[in-house]
Amino acid sequence: MKSCSIRLDYVHVYSNLTSYTERILLLKSIFGFFYEGIIIIDYISVVLAFMFYTFERKIYDMFKAMNLDDSTGKSASQVTDTEKVKCLIIGSGPAGYTAAIYAARANLSPVMYEGLQPGGQLTTTTEVENFPGYPEGITGTVLMEDLKAQATRFGTDIRWGLATKVDFSGPVHKVWIDENKVVESEVVIIATGATAKYLGLDDEKKYAGSGVSACATCDGFFYRGKDIAVVGGGDTAAEEAIYLAGLVNKVYLIVRRNELRASKVMQERVFRTKNIEVLWEHQTKSLIGDGVVEGAILWKKKGTPEEEEVTIKIDGFFLAIGHKPNSDFVKEYIDADEVGYIKTIPGSSKTNVAGVFACGDVQDSIYRQAVTAAGSGCMAAMDAERYLSEKHG
Ligand code: NAP
Repeated sequence: MKSCSIRLDYVHVYSNLTSYTERILLLKSIFGFFYEGIIIIDYISVVLAFMFYTFERKIYDMFKAMNLDDSTGKSASQVTDTEKVKCLIIGSGPAGYTAAIYAARANLSPVMYEGLQPGGQLTTTTEVENFPGYPEGITGTVLMEDLKAQATRFGTDIRWGLATKVDFSGPVHKVWIDENKVVESEVVIIATGATAKYLGLDDEKKYAGSGVSACATCDGFFYRGKDIAVVGGGDTAAEEAIYLAGLVNKVYLIVRRNELRASKVMQERVFRTKNIEVLWEHQTKSLIGDGVVEGAILWKKKGTPEEEEVTIKIDGFFLAIGHKPNSDFVKEYIDADEVGYIKTIPGSSKTNVAGVFACGDVQDSIYRQAVTAAGSGCMAAMDAERYLSEKHG
């Protein structure tokens, strides 16, 4: 946003020079060699200044409409100090939006901060074909826009901003937004999701959406009958390799060590699946292809005397090296497992702090689907509503 904070300083200086003499002197210093025609130049300059001013005014109005301060790029509301709300939702994936729809309909007047990736992980996928209600499928972006429109329709106050810090020590929960605004809320719903881990190769960005995916259940269908690779050796990689093996011609499972981290049961399933070939002690060097993934270059036994390069022909490259739940900002107060998944009381969205609820991928290491996230968002809003009614009688 900061790149949009255009300041046409010369125009400001110029328009603020009320004295005609000052203007003449300024123009003379700039266009001295044209002194004879200074009046004409001045006239043209005034017209230009007016045009620039009108342009700048339009930009300023645009920022105002977007609730942004034009010079800092910050939400106007962020520069105020503390705001009290009834229900704060952090995160805007399917869990957050569903929580917002239910909370708004229950008159909790929810305020939502969208986070770094408005719409969440689904906005990085292409077609979503397994969300109920869309027989022809829908793009992740449109699905999230629809959820947002539905949440807005019932009055959710959706804002840009990132929750960076919390204080859940008192009866009212405090959440810092972008480090410079504090929102005090009676209930907080954490729906910040999880972020798939990538290897960090430039090619992962180059072929994002063109053969590189971090979600087999989202994108596997597009590779029917083709050869693909899955990277990772844990339960997710094993599960995704088995799932994909049912759709595609062949799965290469690229494992960096000479053993799998996955549970024994999953390992046996991998070994029993005929069209999965495990590439032990392989690591990815790069991806190749003309616009879309057509192959991968791997290192075999990297860093050993037997190191060699291997090329495989594939159409899809799936990352399954784990997810990182976005829970670091609450870890001081909220119980989580060793990976960072927030612990909720089974059968509910309740965390260890009264009035703080968690839903979606930030608390789900097993299912991690848009529809399960949406379901848990509904649970969080209902738990929040019940908590408030019990509290206020
Ligand atoms: P994980 O258990 O942390 O496994 C990650 C895998 O990716 C490991 O094999 C790891 O290799 C590999 N890896 C990590 N960084 C890599 C890199 N830079 N290059 C190559 N390989 C890399 O993650 P997960 O499989 O997502 O599972 C997370 C948790 O969810 C686990 O507790 C798992 O049991 C659970 N889970 C359960 C189910 C289920 O019960 N159905 C399904 C999925 C996940 P190393 O082994 O060499 O470290």
